[in-house]
Amino acid sequence: MTDALQLERMTWTEVDRALADGVDAVLVPFGSVEQHGPHMPLDTDSLIARELALRVAARGAQEGVRMLVAPTIGVTVSWYHMQYAGSMRLTTDTFLRVVRDVLDSLVTHGLETIVIVNGHGGNVPALTVAINHYLETTGRRIVVANWLDLASDVVGEIDTPGLHAEEAETSLALALGQRVDLEAATRDAFDRGAAVRAAGLPWTSFGRYDASHRGPSVTVPMDMLRDIAPSGVVGDATRAARATGERIVEAFVPRLVQVVRELTGGAAA
Ligand SMILES: [Zn+2]
Repeated sequence: MTDALQLERMTWTEVDRALADGVDAVLVPFGSVEQHGPHMPLDTDSLIARELALRVAARGAQEGVRMLVAPTIGVTVSWYHMQYAGSMRLTTDTFLRVVRDVLDSLVTHGLETIVIVNGHGGNVPALTVAINHYLETTGRRIVVANWLDLASDVVGEIDTPGLHAEEAETSLALALGQRVDLEAATRDAFDRGAAVRAAGLPWTSFGRYDASHRGPSVTVPMDMLRDIAPSGVVGDATRAARATGERIVEAFVPRLVQVVRELTGGAAA
């Protein structure tokens, strides 16, 4: 069933026909290949981005919004995970060029409404630069949907910090069918700012170390995570639950269908 929604699972003649019939948008999942604690595989962000995109495309199909899902871009901005075995990365400047080439490829075929479905927080700064640079140089507007942002109200109900391989992400991975070993789940660097300070690294009380940080702040870069979180978890993975992840999915999916409907000129819900 999902083959019909996945660009790389279609023949070129099927894609040609789909384009002739009209495609409202193409979703491009961006993940990562990086450590996700001792309890989840390296492909967790990629799986989350792809599975969310497929659910969005399937929901859209039921509602008359036609979407295709492009191949998942797996190796991305993960330099700060390289101290853990197996993590892979593109340098940030390579990543920006990859984003550019992927977008250009889709535009070549007339797929002009493009929404990036991003599963990896470390991609956010570069993706933000990439889509602004794309508008600057081509006049085309691309949108990025980060699950942490589009489901921010549900994520905000979780009272442990939302950073990496922790309660929210592990819950979402459970809901989307990832292999999760909850017995191996850990709690680590629960307060990232405190962990940075304890590691003797430059620290400021105004640093925004958590996505949910409110109030006066300065932006700080990532940390080489193993310096502050030996297990690779930043937050508390031990409290993960499938039901929590299902609430995130149920918030994200209809909202992204709505985003596409609005971008293509349909009525706002
Ligand atoms: Zn992740």
